Parts: sequence; structure tokens; C-alpha cells
Amino acid sequence: MENCLFCRIISGEIPSERVYEDELMVGFKDINPVAPTHILFVPKKHIASLEASEDEDFLLYAKMLKVIRDYAKENGFSEAGYRVINNCNANGGQDVYHIHFHLVAGRQMQWPPG
Ligand code: 5GP
Ligand code: ZN
Repeated sequence: MENCLFCRIISGEIPSERVYEDELMVGFKDINPVAPTHILFVPKKHIASLEASEDEDFLLYAKMLKVIRDYAKENGFSEAGYRVINNCNANGGQDVYHIHFHLVAGRQMQWPPG
């Protein structure tokens, strides 16, 4: 997807601070962090949103969640906790239409979200 920001980050055309990569996904630092740690985990496959996902994509999301859990554990957030977020479509506050999971950690989160 030539015009997709995250596809361009995945290909390396647009630089990012990458903290994780495997054959299925990358993790990179959010350019506008909302917590001391704010990582975006993004599949290499272009999928616009959770809503636009095919049935087969949910196996990928399960693998991504495990990677996120392991990343949080390796970086010392397991005990204190953290938040994993997917914003879906307009009311969900989605800005970039390439599905991604935010990992935010390092401070107390509030509820409800804005
Ligand atoms: P969304 O609102 O779609 O769930 O989240 C998009 C996220 O992408 C936002 O947190 C925003 O700060 C981040 N973002 C937007 N443009 C860039 C960029 O060029 N590089 C990086 N690393 N993050 C970006
Ligand atoms: Zn994309």
C-alpha cells in the first residue's frame, strides 16, 4: 500500500525507532508518546482496521498479543501493569488505517478513556 504511513514505516522508507521485528510484525516507538513507554505493534500485512479484518487475521492478532505480553514482561512492566489499545474507525479515534496495537506503560492509566 504505497500511501499507507505504516506500510512505509515497515518498509523503512520512513524512519522509526524500531524495538521489535519478526516475520509477521514490527514494533516501533510512537512519535507522540502518551506514556513513558508507548510502542505501536503493527502487522506487516496491510489490514485497514479491526473492522476490516478477515477471519484468518485473528490468528495473527493472537500472535501479536503474545509478542506484546512478552515485550512488556521483558521490559519490566508485568507486575505494575500496562495497557494495550486498538482504536477502531472514527468513533474509536483511529487516525492511521493500518491496524496497530498501542502498548502504553510506565504510569498509572485512567478510566474511562476520553
Ligand atoms: P491511532 O490514533 O490510529 O490509533 O494511532 C496512530 C498513532 O500513530 C498515534 O499515536 C500517532 O502518534 C502515531 N504516529 C503518527 N504518525 C507517526 C509517525 O510518522 N511515526 C510514528 N512512529 N508514529 C506515528
Ligand atoms: Zn499499511
